[in-house]
Amino acid sequence: MSVDPYMRGRMNDRKSYVPPFGLGEPLEGGAIGEVVASNADGFAEGDVVLHGLGWREYAVVPAMHAQKVDADGIPESAFLGVLGMPGLTAYVGLLDIAELREGDVVFVSGAAGAVGSLVGQIARERGNYVVGSAGSQQKVDYILDELGFDAAFDYHDGSISERLRHAAPNGIDIYFDNVGGEQFEAAIGALHQHGRIALCGAISSYNNDEKAAVPLIVAIGKRLTMRGFIVRDHGDRREAFLNEVGPWVREGRVKYRETIVDGGVEAAPQAFIDLLRGANTGKMVVRF
Ligand code: NDP
Repeated sequence: MSVDPYMRGRMNDRKSYVPPFGLGEPLEGGAIGEVVASNADGFAEGDVVLHGLGWREYAVVPAMHAQKVDADGIPESAFLGVLGMPGLTAYVGLLDIAELREGDVVFVSGAAGAVGSLVGQIARERGNYVVGSAGSQQKVDYILDELGFDAAFDYHDGSISERLRHAAPNGIDIYFDNVGGEQFEAAIGALHQHGRIALCGAISSYNNDEKAAVPLIVAIGKRLTMRGFIVRDHGDRREAFLNEVGPWVREGRVKYRETIVDGGVEAAPQAFIDLLRGANTGKMVVRF
C-alpha cells in the first residue's frame, strides 16, 4: 500500500477536496492487491488490481473501483509510484499545468521524491535544463548521478535563493512546487517575466498551520502564472501518460527508486510519519 503526503490533510477536520478520515474508521488509500474471490465479470482469483482501500489486509472492493494491473515485467508497486498517481501528477503538472516548452529552465522541489523525480526526468527527456532540490546530500547525489538532472542542491544548505541562483544563473521559466514556504519564495525571485508555477503541494506546511508569507507583489510584477491542480481531475490523461512514460520505465531511461517498509498495517503509521520527515527516496510503500 501507498503512504502519501495528501493523507496528512485528511487528518485535519476542515473542508478540502477530499473529506477527512472518519474517527474510529479505517484509513484508506492506494494499494495493490490480489483478488481472492470475485463474482464480477472480468476479475478472477489471482488477478492483481490497483484499488483505493489500503490500510487493511482484506477489502471488499466494488469492481468499478478496481483496475487490473498489467505489470509486464515491472514490479507491481510501480503502479503506486512512477506509473501510478504520483507519476500522473508529474506528467499532468509539468506538461498541462506548467505547459513545458522547448528551452524552458525548470526548477522542481521535492526532487528525490515520487512526483519530483519524474518531473525532472520528463523535462530532461524533452531536452530542458532541470534543477532539483532535496533534503540531504545523498538525495542530491541521487538526483544528479542517477536521475540526470543538470543541477541540484540541499535546501538546508544556506540561503535557498543563493543556491538556486548558483544552479540556474540565468533564472528559471517554470517552478514545479511540491513544498511551498521558503522554496516557493526563492522560486518567485528566480522566475523570469511570464514564468509559470505548477502548484502541486506544500509539504513544508502540512504539519503546521502558520501561513507562509507570500511575496505576491513580486509575482504580480513579473506577470507570473500560478496554477493549482489536483491529479484526480486529470484521469483522461492516464492513457497518454502510460503510453509515453511506460516505455521509458521499461527501457530504463526513466529511473525510479522505492522505499519499501515491511510489516503490513502495523508498520504503516510509522512509515507515513517517516515520509513526512523525508526518510524516503522515491515512492514510500508498505509491504504486507
Ligand atoms: P515524496 O515522495 O516527495 O515524499 C515527501 C518528501 O517531502 C519527503 O521525502 C521529504 O524529502 C519532503 N519534505 C518533507 N518535509 C519537507 C519540508 N519541510 N520542506 C521540504 N521538503 C520536505 O512525496 P510525493 O512525491 O508523493 O508528493 C510530493 C508533493 O506533491 C507533496 O506535497 C504532495 O502533497 C503533492 N501531491 C500533489 C498532488 C496533486 O494532485 N496536486 C498529487 C500527489 C502529490 P526531503 O528529504 O527532500 O525533504
